[in-house]
Amino acid sequence: MRRAALMTLASALASALMATAPLAGQDAAGRQGGTAKPRPADTEVWEPVPPIVAAGPTDAAPPADALVLFNGLNLDEWVNTRDKSPAGWTVADGILTVNKANKSGNIETKRSFSNYQLHLEYRIPANITGTDQARGNSGLFLASTGPGDVGYELQILDSYHNKTYVNGQAGAVYKQYPPLVNASRPPGEWQSYDVVWTAPVFNTDGTVRTPAYLTAFHNGALIQNHVALRGPTLYIGPPVYKAHGPAPIKLQSHGDPSPPISFRNIWVREMK
Ligand code: MG
Repeated sequence: MRRAALMTLASALASALMATAPLAGQDAAGRQGGTAKPRPADTEVWEPVPPIVAAGPTDAAPPADALVLFNGLNLDEWVNTRDKSPAGWTVADGILTVNKANKSGNIETKRSFSNYQLHLEYRIPANITGTDQARGNSGLFLASTGPGDVGYELQILDSYHNKTYVNGQAGAVYKQYPPLVNASRPPGEWQSYDVVWTAPVFNTDGTVRTPAYLTAFHNGALIQNHVALRGPTLYIGPPVYKAHGPAPIKLQSHGDPSPPISFRNIWVREMK
């Protein structure tokens, strides 16, 4: 049986099981506190698959009041997430490329932000390799609220004819919201994200007053329409909010072995 057919069968079986079986971490009555160990697959969603739309051309020079975060010349606005040392990614020919060779890790802005509009362009290399989540994986973290991958990730991935769980494909709020459509361009072509981020607001006791909201466009197509995030994006388990203030914007150096992706033309406009 072909792999696609197997996947369809597996999805159908999973759907049938989900209709009757308790979720991981729940007992038969659906209460939390079961003994099953949470797995990454517990929070993967595979269907329905967002429809594919052909994208228009990119056109997004920064407005006059934008703060340019990367203009092709240097990483003066960025630091290494791990230790706040100079960002160790590669700048050449006006392009920023993830540095996987020396495990330099994620980079984030020196400045912190709350509510903003952001534009970013990225390119999956034409010679990309790998499958599923291990193919051009990176990420735009709308707020970096801790080390490593802590924060709220809008997924960057090669999703041009590359199958993965839909809430982990390009344009997904990772493990929370699949994109409304798949507007991915082929590897080798520049692509854009335009986002509107509204930071979560917390009460003095740390509880959520209002959640984070995200609206996002991928290559000009709406992919997230004012979705309310359920908390930071997590690889394993359900999201849980933890109070924070203004935070840096972060780009991910993912650990998969596929060739590194590149960025250009990153700018932000803060909103009061
Ligand atoms: Mg990622």
